[in-house]
Amino acid sequence: MENKLGKLLTTVFLIALAALAISRVGNLHEGPLPSKHQTRIMMDTVVTLRIYAGDAHQVEKAMEATFAEIERLEGILSRWIPSSEISKINDTAGRGSVSVCPETWQAITGTEELSRLTNGAFDITIGAITQLWDFQSDEARVPDEAAIQRGLRFVGPQQILLDSLDVKVGLRGRGAAIDLGGAAKGYAVDRALEVLRRYGVKAAVVDAGGDIGLLGKKSRGEVWKIGIRHPQVLGETIEVLEVDSGAVATSGNYERYFFQDGVRYHHILDPKTGMPARGVVSVTILAKTALEADILSTAVFVLGPKRGMTLIEQLGEVEGIIYVEGPDGLRRLASSGCPPSEGKYSFSTTHYPARRSS
Ligand code: ADP
Ligand code: MG
Repeated sequence: MENKLGKLLTTVFLIALAALAISRVGNLHEGPLPSKHQTRIMMDTVVTLRIYAGDAHQVEKAMEATFAEIERLEGILSRWIPSSEISKINDTAGRGSVSVCPETWQAITGTEELSRLTNGAFDITIGAITQLWDFQSDEARVPDEAAIQRGLRFVGPQQILLDSLDVKVGLRGRGAAIDLGGAAKGYAVDRALEVLRRYGVKAAVVDAGGDIGLLGKKSRGEVWKIGIRHPQVLGETIEVLEVDSGAVATSGNYERYFFQDGVRYHHILDPKTGMPARGVVSVTILAKTALEADILSTAVFVLGPKRGMTLIEQLGEVEGIIYVEGPDGLRRLASSGCPPSEGKYSFSTTHYPARRSS
């Protein structure tokens, strides 16, 4: 019950936030540049498209085609849709491989390099563990220790069997599972931008639950403004980033969680322990692609502030902002090349509510 209500409230909040973010973006144009936007619930989150200018009929067509592409990708990549290719791979775990379409292949192999670079902090075989936690369910509970230990045996890149010649994917162990929850939205945002480009759209924003892709430049060289949600205060923006181009993704411990015995258990798991990663409350990554930003926001969350920031600084054309929870409230850490931000929230000791913030 509580979980459902929490989800609904989150959804309503996200829609409001999307409207806010967009109005901020819109305000930046000098003069009333015409734009059209639409919000739909997809990929288990709120997806907003905003297209600037262009012929009205063409914009309408571009919008429909873009939403259709996101829906198609969800149908292929979601582990929660039984007919998806990911479900087929998971159902066949330990018993062979499945032929996949180029998009599934791309989404899976697109996570490989960053998985390696993060030393396994990001690992799509976390599916063996996420299925135990079952954050989607209203009765989510902490799984028992023995089940987690069993599940951990099936986590690791060696579980994924790739056959590039026949474009097939398999899983080594019976019990292994792929979960693209930390990458699929980013991938879908990148693909959505491609569709918009194909339709001749010159400027647009795609926002899939906080994974944001930017297309084109604003008029007169102005920047996009992206609001980052306050990780502890529902309905607040903690800061507004000024971004030139590329993608921005945020991972937070407030997205999907439940409380048990007064402890918050959230959906970003450490593949080494099978437990929620602790210490960080929110990570925002700026990168060239939304896939990269999505993966890195999850990975840095798991790595923690020190190792996470080291990784961000090592990578070219990647910046990041980490919010950490300390005894005195929130602490903000930003990488050396972070864009300027405005409207910073004062970091008083706003602690988590003991229960869901509903
Ligand atoms: P959100 O879905 O809130 O945007 P993320 O992008 O951080 O958040 O993705 C979290 C999702 O990624 C989880 O719901 C789960 O499906 C998956 N996931 C959780 N932990 C990991 C991990 N360590 N590596 C890869 N994927 C993960
Ligand atoms: Mg992510």
